[in-house]
Amino acid sequence: MDDDKSMVSRCDATTCRFNDDMNCTAGQIEVSMSGQTAQCLTFSPTESMSDTQGLSADNH
Ligand code: SF4
Repeated sequence: MDDDKSMVSRCDATTCRFNDDMNCTAGQIEVSMSGQTAQCLTFSPTESMSDTQGLSADNH
């Protein structure tokens, strides 16, 4: 298995500027855990997209 970037295996926040095809390209990130929800503090929306989408799963 090739896994050259293993800081974050996968991120669903595709609106984040560091998200490249569901992969985090930010070298160092900060994640805060609140309950069972992980929230990335490094999340930064892309300039082209104004859609609000975080790490919080909304698939209940
Ligand atoms: S939200 Fe956080 S983990 Fe996800 S791509 Fe952005 S910086 Fe990386």
